[in-house]
This record gives sequence, C-alpha cells and structure tokens, in this order.
Amino acid sequence: RVLRVRVSDNGLQKVEMESQIYEIHEDLMRGSGAQLFDHIAECLANFMEKLKIKDKKLPLGFTFSFPCHQTKLDESILVTWTKGFKSPADIVAVVNDTVGTMMTCGYDDHNCEVGLIVGTGTNACYMEEMRHIDLVEGDEGRMCINMEWGAFGDDGALNDIRTEFDHEIDMGSLNPGKQLFEKMISGMYMGELVRLILVKMAKEGLLFRGKLTSDLRTTGHFETRYVSAIEKEKEGLQKAHEILTKLGLEPSHEDCLATHRICQIVSTRSANLCGATLAAVLRRIKENKGVDRLRSTVGVDGSVYKKHPHFARRLHKTVRKLLPDCEIRFVRSEDGSGKGAAMVTAVAYRLAAQHKA
Ligand code: BGC
Ligand code: MG
Repeated sequence: RVLRVRVSDNGLQKVEMESQIYEIHEDLMRGSGAQLFDHIAECLANFMEKLKIKDKKLPLGFTFSFPCHQTKLDESILVTWTKGFKSPADIVAVVNDTVGTMMTCGYDDHNCEVGLIVGTGTNACYMEEMRHIDLVEGDEGRMCINMEWGAFGDDGALNDIRTEFDHEIDMGSLNPGKQLFEKMISGMYMGELVRLILVKMAKEGLLFRGKLTSDLRTTGHFETRYVSAIEKEKEGLQKAHEILTKLGLEPSHEDCLATHRICQIVSTRSANLCGATLAAVLRRIKENKGVDRLRSTVGVDGSVYKKHPHFARRLHKTVRKLLPDCEIRFVRSEDGSGKGAAMVTAVAYRLAAQHKA
C-alpha cells in the first residue's frame, strides 16, 4: 500500500491521503529480499508517476511489519534478511505497523500510548520510560518500544499452555520454533487450528460419523474468515453447514454445533491471551507513572480484531477484568500504520530541517 499523506499544521489536525494498494504475488513473498524490495520500489515509482510527482524528492516513511534491529529512525536491519532499500525518495523513517497505528491514534487522542495489531500476525508497542531503556543513553522522556510479542514463548515460557495442536501448527510452519505466541493467536493460524481439531475429532469418530475428506485434510483449507462467519450471531450455524459441505462433508446439526463451539474456543483463547498480555503492558505503564488509576488508550488494527464478530468485545472484557483499576479506551485505526509512518516522517523531516537552519 502506497500512500501520499499531507499533514497540515494549522492547528486543525488535518490529514489528507491518497493511496493505492498493489499486490505482492506469492512467489515474491517467498523469493529473495532483493526481488521483494525491487517490487516495492517499482510500486512506489508507479504511484509517483500517476500522481505526477516523480521528480519531487519527498520524505518517505516506510512501514515494515517484521522484526528488525532498529539502529536509527531511518535505519533498520531485518533480523533474517540483510538487504537495503533503494528508491527514488529520501528515506526518513522506518516504522513498525504497531508504531504507525499508535501514532495515528495518538494524533486524535493524546492518551494513546499502546499500539496493537491482531491480524495475519500479532504484535504490540508501548511508550516506555527512557530510564528503563539501557540500550539508549539518557533518562529523560519516553521512547516507543516495539515489543515483537509474537515471539513470546520462543524461550519455552508458554510450554505449559501449548496444546498438541499448537505443536502441530508450529512443526508445519515456515518458521518452526519461532513466533509461538503469534501462532496461538493470529489470523494466519486461527483457521488452521480449527481444522486440526476437526480432523482429530473426525478421526476419533466424534464428528462427521468418522468421515474425513481430502479437502478437510489439506493444510489451509479451513480459512480464518470461516471462523468469523461461523461465529456470526444469526447465520452462524447455516454458515457452518455451508462451509463443511463445501469441504465435501455431510454435516449433521450436531456437527455444525460442535464446529461452532470449536471456533468459539479457538478464537476466545486468542482474545484472552491477547488480553492478558495487553493487561501486563498496561500495568507496566501504570507502575511507570505511579498513578492509582490509569487512563490510557490503545490504538488497534488488524483483520482479526476488526472482522471477527466477537474478538474485540472479548479482548476488551478480559483487559478490563484484569485491570479494574484502569480506564482503558480502545480506538480502531483506519489505514493506521501507513498514516502513522507518514506522521513520524513529517515530524522527523521538520526536525532535520530545523537542525540544518
Ligand atoms: C511481525 C511484527 C508485526 C506483526 C503484525 C508480526 O509477524 O513480527 O513486526 O508488527 O506481525 O503485523
Ligand atoms: Mg536510558
């Protein structure tokens, strides 16, 4: 997604945006870093050509939603790739999508100090006190920390709550042993978790009169959007019937009820895990501030949070139950990560200009 963003500064807090979405084909996702970044640069060039701004040297912010060692605002090294990014513009900032989301919401709500993504992947960032950040000199003020919480559990911390299905997902993934928390939560894995449970129950004769189809046996064939459809209030059971039939099964009413229940369990676990970690982050912020009652806002984005019919409500409920002494507001961000990156860029650009002058 390429955006041109104009952040005006006349006290009206206005943001104007034009944007275009470009596709990234699967071969590019699995190809070399150089090919992927060439493609991104081409999309950017195409967009600038269309807006007739190709010869302008504009400050560029780049949302990069992968774990990085961020050395400077405009310098970030991917933990596994090591390729740079050549483009027609002047890169001013590299911003994780959680940070972009927090910045966007922070534009309207100054209490926003956490950014959360629950989509294909999951992650959060929050504002930490400089005195607690050993890597950076200075004790004044605060700094945003990209937590990369999807990797929580990679050291074994979650072992006692990971199920056989979580192990199976991990073993069959592109990155075994990595992002274990993310694999219990995010949209990339939610449907697959449900599928693995359905397969096991069918094998044990508990579902579909013990019948399995090759479709149901195929990785990825139970999509996460099915979980959302099946959990819809009114048409959920009907949807379950349609989806299971599409997978070649002949589901009974009980099969549909059971499938609905499995979806509910998997997505509720996800919301609860997310809620618990988020509550821990907010409690940390509360302790940092030393207040009796924390008022804080969380900026949120991601397909699971936005599209699942009950996820957001369950997440909010868990957080509020764990933090009765806090008032937490959740704000959805629209196109948040791109807009936020643009705002970081605008500020950094202006500071750099002031510095030169
Ligand atoms: C990435 C994070 C990102 C999150 C949400 C995770 O897989 O490691 O950097 O913020 O997905 O997009
Ligand atoms: Mg410090």
